[in-house]
Amino acid sequence: MSILNADLHCHSVVSDGTLTPEALAQRAAANGVELWALTDHDEVGGQHRALAAAREHGMKYLTGTEISVTFIGKTVHIVGLGFDAGDAALRQGLADTRGGRGERAMEMSDQLARAGIRGAYEGALRYVGNPELISRTHFARFLVETGVCRDTGEVFRRFLTEGKPGFVPHRWATLADAVRWITQAGGIAVIAHPARYPLTANEEYALFSEFKAHGGQAVEVVTGSHTAAEAVRYAQTAREFGLAASRGSDFHSPDESHTDLGQLPYLPGELTPVWELLADRIQ
Ligand code: AMP
Ligand code: MN
Ligand code: MN
Ligand code: MN
Repeated sequence: MSILNADLHCHSVVSDGTLTPEALAQRAAANGVELWALTDHDEVGGQHRALAAAREHGMKYLTGTEISVTFIGKTVHIVGLGFDAGDAALRQGLADTRGGRGERAMEMSDQLARAGIRGAYEGALRYVGNPELISRTHFARFLVETGVCRDTGEVFRRFLTEGKPGFVPHRWATLADAVRWITQAGGIAVIAHPARYPLTANEEYALFSEFKAHGGQAVEVVTGSHTAAEAVRYAQTAREFGLAASRGSDFHSPDESHTDLGQLPYLPGELTPVWELLADRIQ
């Protein structure tokens, strides 16, 4: 095992988490996290605050983000770690990626209205911490608040996903662009929670092959979104493709997330931890 309590995936109010970067840092440190990264969706706006808070709590820090990508018509997430958060091309790419979220949200709201749920746009906005980053998670919180669903899991089963009311197809960044923005800013691209994608075996093989060809170097093996069996499976995939391994809770909220910051299994010992490749980027 790689016995380092690294948590390299979580979200703050700068995207769809409910805690500030400072509150996340405090919680991570209290849970024993030694190396931390805040990875807000399509945003680096919280990075300065996260680094400052990590220092205050004696944690090491890697810059982070989680980029929304459209791959063969499906959404996949690419985490970036250890990049220069001031890099102009990366910042522009992220701004372009989040650019369509406002319009998409209004269409989601129109669809929900047709399904009998009124005021969803305004309702979701009340949960938004960053006006550029309205996401399905904020709609999910509104649907729970109004009693339409009991929890966010039920929301995603009944609404907001393909074939259900409130799902608006959206074109995110390309895989090539996302990997390039991260690597050219000095960071490492990581396939986030690979078990969560609706890909066939052949499509998944294509994702890993193309990711690698574009310069991607790591995959999340131990994450709050994987079962123990899925971690074993993607440890094998990491070995097959010669990728380093990452570990992160994907924590969003004390009320919603099953896996708390830093509270997940260690990485299997035979894999190269992504932080070994990023030793000179740790702050
Ligand atoms: P968006 O970027 O607006 O498409 O929203 C994606 C976010 O929705 C993810 O980052 C998760 O936080 C959340 N999400 C997606 N699927 C689920 C699910 N089945 N259960 C809970 N949250 C989900
Ligand atoms: Mn999220
Ligand atoms: Mn994700
Ligand atoms: Mn995430």
